[in-house]
Amino acid sequence: MCTVNQCRYDQITLEFSPCTISQVLHWSVQKIEYVDARLLLQYVMQVNYSYLLTHADDFLSSDHFERFSKLVLERIRGVPVAYLTGLREFYDLTFRVSPAVLIPRPETELLVEQALAKIPESRSMKILDLGTGSGAVAITIAKHRPRSHVTAIDLSLDAIAIAKWNAQNLAAGNIRITQSNWFEKLVADKSFDLIVSNPPYVAQKDPHLQRGDLRFEPDIALSTHENGLACIRHIIATSPAYLVDGGQLLLEHGYDQSIQCRGLLEAQGFRNIYSQTDLAGIERVSGGSYHAENLQPRIP
Ligand code: GLN
Repeated sequence: MCTVNQCRYDQITLEFSPCTISQVLHWSVQKIEYVDARLLLQYVMQVNYSYLLTHADDFLSSDHFERFSKLVLERIRGVPVAYLTGLREFYDLTFRVSPAVLIPRPETELLVEQALAKIPESRSMKILDLGTGSGAVAITIAKHRPRSHVTAIDLSLDAIAIAKWNAQNLAAGNIRITQSNWFEKLVADKSFDLIVSNPPYVAQKDPHLQRGDLRFEPDIALSTHENGLACIRHIIATSPAYLVDGGQLLLEHGYDQSIQCRGLLEAQGFRNIYSQTDLAGIERVSGGSYHAENLQPRIP
C-alpha cells in the first residue's frame, strides 16, 4: 500500500482513491527516477511537461491512475521507459521504438552531427547506414539533407518494419530501407559518398549487458564477438568496395575502442583518420576517407 497525503494506491488490488498530478509524481519518485515518472505520466495523459507543471493540482482520472501505476511497476521491474511508451526523442525528431531495436542514445547524435558536417546541403550525396535499427541515424540524416539519397540496412526484419514506419511517419522520402546482413545484399559498385554505422560493439561478456536498460535491448544490436570489435572490423574491411574515391566512413564505437578503431582504419588504407569526443569527453566516433590510389599495386 502506498499513501501520499490523501492519495492511496494498493499495488496488489490496484485499489485507487483520487489523487492529484503532483501527488502521484511524489508517490512514484519514491520508486523510480523523476524524469521517468513524468515521461510515463505525460504518455498516459497525452500531455506535455508544461501541462503537468501547470495542472499539478488537477485530479487524475482512475483510468489514467491505473495505467500510470502499471507502467511504474514495469519500470520498477527494469523495463526501459522508451519501450513502455514506444517513443524516443533523438536529435530533433521523435522515433517509434520496440524491444526489436536499440533505444537511440544521446551519444549517437554525435554520429549524426559528424555525418551532417560532411554532407553539403547543396549536394546530392549517396549515404549508407549499416545496422539502422529504428532508423534514427539514417532518417535524421535524410530529413536534414533532403537532396541526399540514404540507404539503410538491417539484418532484423522487425527492425526494418520499425524503421520503415518511422520513415513514413516522419515523411522522409529520400530513404530506402532494406534487409541485409551488413553489405551482403548491396552492389559493390563504389557508389556511396559516406557510410555511417552504430554497430553492435559491446563485448559479449561485458557485465553491463546484465544491468539497467541493456537487459531489455536486443543482443543482436548491442554485442558481438572479438571483444566487441567483430562488426567494426568487418565494416572497415568491406567499406572500400562500396565507397566512391575519397568517400568517408564514420563509426560509433565503445568508450575504449577508439585506438583500435583508428588502427583498423589505418591498416585498411583509410586516410584523414580522426576520432571525435562526445559530450562526456569520450572518443565515441571515428572515421576516415578512402582514396582510389590505395588500390594501385605498390611498386616494389
Ligand atoms: N552505447 C551503447 C551502450 O553501451 C551500445 C550501443 C551499441 O552497441 N551500438 O549502452
